[in-house]
Amino acid sequence: MSSSAPPPLRVAITVDMEPDCPPFLWTWRGVTEGAPRLLDLFERQAIPVTWFTTGDTARLHPGSVEALVAAGHELGCHGISHQRFDWMSRESAAHEIGESTRRLREFAPVTSFRAPYLRFPGHYLDLLEAEGFLLDSSQAKYKRDVPGQENAKNLVRLPASITSSALRIPKVIREFFLGRLADPVVLFVHPWEFVDFTQTDLRYDCRFRTGQPALDALESVIGFFKARGAEFTTMRDLGAASALATPAKPVMAGAAQ
Ligand SMILES: [Zn+2]
Repeated sequence: MSSSAPPPLRVAITVDMEPDCPPFLWTWRGVTEGAPRLLDLFERQAIPVTWFTTGDTARLHPGSVEALVAAGHELGCHGISHQRFDWMSRESAAHEIGESTRRLREFAPVTSFRAPYLRFPGHYLDLLEAEGFLLDSSQAKYKRDVPGQENAKNLVRLPASITSSALRIPKVIREFFLGRLADPVVLFVHPWEFVDFTQTDLRYDCRFRTGQPALDALESVIGFFKARGAEFTTMRDLGAASALATPAKPVMAGAAQ
């Protein structure tokens, strides 16, 4: 009956740790140059972040993975080599998930997953559950989902709220969109956005306002939500809160208890 304030808006920033702008470039400047800038920003802002990391990133740049784990962030899984799961056989998908998870768990516990290109068939979700994942963030609110009947009972699915390049658009338009996002807000960026690719021959959304302007924009986004009393959290914590709030769902229509 009390007129207590509503709970704060929860915001999770996520970073997809992968090669530069796949499938157009396969260099690693984002991981080697962009990620340290992000770590510095998140330390200054004192916020925890989830880093969905590919197995190749862990293999080729283990120091980068150690650095984000040492900074207290959550390590998540983003497949091995940034291939599309909706183009894979079930056998290949099981291999991608198992192999990347094994590599990443050498660094830290890993229970959150995001598929490359935000495309993951619902009928492969049981493969994630079998590997001990608790959360999937392979969907996007602004994008049509990949067809496939969901077949995981306890896995929490939390979609991305807004596309990454939208964080680099002019502030007044950006804040109009950010102000309309519902709880929980899941933002994502890529380390290569924080390297100057403006002069590179690339698809426009991979290069516009990359480098320092992107870093300034992300800092401004964090400030926008802080000014609204938002609470910054990880995908692991969002997933745990969501699992407590919702009972396990039936797996298939026919298998419902
Ligand atoms: Zn990716």
